[in-house]
Amino acid sequence: MSIIEQMQQELQELKESSNLRTLPDLIHEGRDVIANGQRMLNLSSNDYLGLATDRTLREEFLKELTADSFLPTSSSSRLLTGNFTIYEELEQTLAELFGTEAALVFNSGYHANTGILPAVSDAQTLILADKLVHASLIDGIRLSTAKCIRYRHNDLKQLERLLAENHALYRQVIIVTESIFSMDGDIADLKELVRLKRMYENVLLYVDEAHAFGARGEQGLGCAEEAGCIREIDFLVGTFGKAAASAGAYIVCRRTIREYLVNRMRTLIFTTALPPVNIAWTLFVVRRLAGFRERRIHLKNISNILRRALKEKGYTCPSDSYIVPMIVGKSSDTILKAEELQRHGFYALPVRPPTVPEGTSRIRFSLTAEIREEEIRKLIKIII
Ligand code: PMP
Repeated sequence: MSIIEQMQQELQELKESSNLRTLPDLIHEGRDVIANGQRMLNLSSNDYLGLATDRTLREEFLKELTADSFLPTSSSSRLLTGNFTIYEELEQTLAELFGTEAALVFNSGYHANTGILPAVSDAQTLILADKLVHASLIDGIRLSTAKCIRYRHNDLKQLERLLAENHALYRQVIIVTESIFSMDGDIADLKELVRLKRMYENVLLYVDEAHAFGARGEQGLGCAEEAGCIREIDFLVGTFGKAAASAGAYIVCRRTIREYLVNRMRTLIFTTALPPVNIAWTLFVVRRLAGFRERRIHLKNISNILRRALKEKGYTCPSDSYIVPMIVGKSSDTILKAEELQRHGFYALPVRPPTVPEGTSRIRFSLTAEIREEEIRKLIKIII
């Protein structure tokens, strides 16, 4: 069988088991999406603060742009001729906001997670990673030469035991976690993680705040801001593609780590830097993040209402955030429920294995600050 025939066979098998993925045919209109001719409220977006659909904000940004400042490409890696001053301006702004020595910007969260871990670890490194960390972190671990052990999701007792047993056997240990987990919406205990990492001199902590940056914390800096431990986290990473309504990612860290990454991180060195116009938009949003406090409060409020209602209806809902999974169990039941919600004008999507463990298929609501409380109440009435 040729390679192409093998691909065809595999695709056919995926189709037969209802697991074939296709790119959805969507039209975006403000908060709504139109799919198969039907208009629905988008309940599956990562635009947590509702900034991506905020026309006024875009208009304000466009007022500042000129043909000279609208630079659609960097034409090069930052290490060659692609290092425009706007990158450094964004990095300085981030370092000042977080109160860290330094910051470094990347093309995406995927670049960050697949690039940082291989750069900073070696065969004498042990990575202890939460069982539910994102695919980009898993790929980063795979690309590294480090040894890796996964601990049960948020089981910090097990992590403590693993640290005690292993820390002396390695040059360094890196604990890897997300703050808000992307499928369950629950949150790692960052204070406890900091306590654990402090027990041994050779332990470092890596936290991915992709889903928290912008939408959590008094200034919108994430869960580490809420927990008051920003500077205790050695690798504090976040993305701009979610609440910050842009693209790209960052690390805030010590100056030495930044300098090391500039020299060793392949996904920074060997790629064309993001377009300066994109960085200018990110900077525009980042400077305003603290001012979106009302949106964060509203988002928290509607998320609480939905979570409480799901639990009252008997659903398992591990979430403590605006990522609100409604765990149904069987994939076929989950698809039926998602279709029912879509018929009522709510665009909520089913998530099935292998993305989530077998038997935990779910509808994953991902709420944004522009959703009104009455819309959540209407949604709750429809859920059975
Ligand atoms: N980390 C986590 C936890 C994520 O959920 C995602 C994206 N879904 C990423 C990293 C990747 O970020 P980006 O989309 O900026 O590549």
